[in-house]
Amino acid sequence: MIYLDYSATTPVSYDVLESFNKACKEYMGNPNSLHSLGVKAKGLMNSATKQISDQFNVLDSEIIYTSGATESNNMALIGVALANIKKGNHIIVSKLEHPSIYKICEYLETLGFEISYVNNNEEGLVDFDNLRSLIRPETILVSICAVNSEIGIRQPLKMIRQIIKKENSNCLFHSDMTQALGKIPVSFHDVDLASCSMHKIYGLKGIGILYKNSRIQLVPLFHGSSKDNDLRPGTPAVPLIASSAKAIRLATQDLDRRETFIKRLNEKIVKELSNYDGIIINQTKYSIPHILNISLVNIRPETFIHAMEEYDIYLGTNTACSSGELSSSVMALFNDKKRAASTIRISLSHLTTTDEINRFLTNFKIVYNKLNDLVTK
Ligand code: PMP
Repeated sequence: MIYLDYSATTPVSYDVLESFNKACKEYMGNPNSLHSLGVKAKGLMNSATKQISDQFNVLDSEIIYTSGATESNNMALIGVALANIKKGNHIIVSKLEHPSIYKICEYLETLGFEISYVNNNEEGLVDFDNLRSLIRPETILVSICAVNSEIGIRQPLKMIRQIIKKENSNCLFHSDMTQALGKIPVSFHDVDLASCSMHKIYGLKGIGILYKNSRIQLVPLFHGSSKDNDLRPGTPAVPLIASSAKAIRLATQDLDRRETFIKRLNEKIVKELSNYDGIIINQTKYSIPHILNISLVNIRPETFIHAMEEYDIYLGTNTACSSGELSSSVMALFNDKKRAASTIRISLSHLTTTDEINRFLTNFKIVYNKLNDLVTK
């Protein structure tokens, strides 16, 4: 198998799974229980949280466990919106967000919030002047993803934060860091709230994090009985939490060396695919090398992906693709419907090998020529 869809999800690392298994076997108590099994489970959970908060240099109480980035994004955007309803009803997001952010915005509009979409420049960076002009006294939140999930555009969060706070010091800044964590260095100090997901960093599915600065109040989305966590009550998922501390530590090691290696693989693919007439590379100088997006001008992306699957090669597509919709990120960047209707995402990892890329390119050529001949003859 040649797996090139690491931005969709990653295989679970052996050590992460070991932490999960150990916690399941040896820490079966409910951390909310008063007896010693509960205390033991709570001890494990607290030490995992401490490792995570130390790693990000934030407070333990600023780490909230969720089921993944979709839930973190919901908790952040809806929680902030409802908590600040008296201060304002205006929210700004970029045009390069994950669909979950747009769905939440649609919901917030039904509650009377107004959403503005900040422009990006031709390289994909948020247009600072446009952002400045959009921020108003009633703007309560700006949400901009750290790394775009389709084209891999990396945003300068520190600079964006400065702009936001200069224009309106009360306006909060959230970033969806799902595609950034484990690929590039991230700092929660650049933002007020951040969303992350463990299954993108060789952790388990079903657990994510919301970082929330302790000064910030959110209206909870869930209600239940829990002394310690009023934002997400219920029994904490201790084994998932314990495994997350391991996943974060392992995934954030060696970032520079891994990136250098992945960049070489990315360049090799770009060099080869640039020779094809019907292929456009959707990349700018701000794309991180882990995510490589291309458009196939003549071939339907889902046809191509299934044909590659015959060779045991797994690629990603824009989720809207199969329903004939356009990639919103490619539209935002290149404003070209044909290009946005035919995208494929090749996502790489430090686990990818040069041999896999060589075999991928050989099979790509076979599949491409076969399908291209069918449509062009
Ligand atoms: N945000 C981004 C940028 C993502 O790439 C994804 C996953 N495709 C999500 C949010 C949703 O994450 P999860 O699957 O953990 O809900």
